[in-house]
Amino acid sequence: MPFSPNQLKDEAIHEGKRERLVKELSGKGITDTAVLQAIGKVPRHFFFNTAFLQRAYEDIAFPIAAGQTISQPYTVAFQTQLLQIKKGEKVLEIGTGSGYQTAVLLEMGARVFTIERQKELFDKTKVILPKMGYAPKLFYGDGYIGQEAYAPFDKVLVTAGAPFIPEPLKLQLKVGGRLVIPVGEGALQEMILVEKVSASEFRQTNHGSFRFVPMLTEKNK
Ligand code: SAH
Repeated sequence: MPFSPNQLKDEAIHEGKRERLVKELSGKGITDTAVLQAIGKVPRHFFFNTAFLQRAYEDIAFPIAAGQTISQPYTVAFQTQLLQIKKGEKVLEIGTGSGYQTAVLLEMGARVFTIERQKELFDKTKVILPKMGYAPKLFYGDGYIGQEAYAPFDKVLVTAGAPFIPEPLKLQLKVGGRLVIPVGEGALQEMILVEKVSASEFRQTNHGSFRFVPMLTEKNK
């Protein structure tokens, strides 16, 4: 993602576009005001390829690099709302990608630990997020194994389509914690919420179909 100094300006026009995006998302059923406020604050155009800059506030997923996408704002809002984020919570994100979702979680006051499998994206995002004043803990690694050293987490969020629910992510959740993960190997995935009821009991609910890039099992694929 080539960043010109120009691109890193957040101006009234962007604010206006964000306001419209927030209205659109609330019209589509997002009710968590903290989520909407965060989306109203994060300059999504900073995470964009210059080619698509003009379209940064459309409710659409866009290509970033390495064959990956920045999630659609509705999907970001929907997953974040399902997580029920509270200030100060520890959140593990799988699939840092552009860093946009990471920024939304940070705006909500979460402490974010985020893992990216692709070096190219990891290297870009570790530069852009601190430049914007965001300070997540970024890892280049494999989301299937989570981040044992920093567990347990209040919330876990997977932003790639997983073929199954990785056991370590359930284990690294606090009792009372929530894991949101799109599950499925076809074109569409089901948005699954896993609530950890006790150390060994989990309640699973399905929240509809979404489309994600696949969660990778091998590096750089
Ligand atoms: N949250 C991102 C969405 C990016 S798309 C955003 O807001 O932009 C999903 C991301 O998951 C991609 O960047 C992809 O490289 C990453 N990914 C895929 N498999 C992974 C794995 N096993 N571990 C960690 N990240 C993975």
